[in-house]
Amino acid sequence: MNDAFFKTAARAPVFAALLPDGAVEQLSGDSEGFLDRRQLVVPGRDDLALIDLRSIATQGLVGPEALAALGQAKAILSWHTRHGFCPNCGAATRPAAAGWRRECSVCKTQHFPRTDPVVIMLALDGERCLLGRQSRWPKGMYSCLAGFVEPGETIEEAVRREIREEAGIACGEVAYLASQPWPFPSSLMIGCFVRATSRDIVVDDVELEDARWFARDDVMAMFENRHPEGITPPAPMAIAHHILRVWADGNL
Ligand SMILES: [Zn+2]
Repeated sequence: MNDAFFKTAARAPVFAALLPDGAVEQLSGDSEGFLDRRQLVVPGRDDLALIDLRSIATQGLVGPEALAALGQAKAILSWHTRHGFCPNCGAATRPAAAGWRRECSVCKTQHFPRTDPVVIMLALDGERCLLGRQSRWPKGMYSCLAGFVEPGETIEEAVRREIREEAGIACGEVAYLASQPWPFPSSLMIGCFVRATSRDIVVDDVELEDARWFARDDVMAMFENRHPEGITPPAPMAIAHHILRVWADGNL
């Protein structure tokens, strides 16, 4: 599967299917943490390689068009697996509209795939930026803070609330940069910059292992793999990498 395939197939239907758990055998590894490190096989099918989507992305195993299609497939299939019953009346639902909808067999309510908005942002204090890390992330990696947008909240309010909750920093003006679908399982990452109006960090140690201010030189050292503490930036497949890069390069 490659980008040429997706370009030529662009006008034709593209199908995706889930392998049932029973068809797959686990040889080793675990799925805890950032990457799914299970070694999985389909008995009798040596021609199939089973690789998790994050690994496909981080290793650059397919081009951007194929990756986008795989992300779409992952998001929609995981929605189907979790929406077999109607939240309105509890009866079974069935797929409709080529998988883009589910319908309740009893109350006839139509259900549509959900997308969960997540803000991901870089707080800036002049020539410094705020990065944090979660304990489950790859060792040494620091990244932008992030969190789900809550009901009734604007993007700007979510950005300010998350920074305040996770790092104790007050923030003002918010600017949008770009977004990225993140099908784990169904998020849309909304990338922003935000101007910090306070400086003293208070880390929420339930959410984060650490949060710190980094000077632009520190961030350049991270990108060039020469940070004295071995600190690394988020992977290029993640929008956090590009938010940080735009600021580090002075292209804000
Ligand atoms: Zn129903």
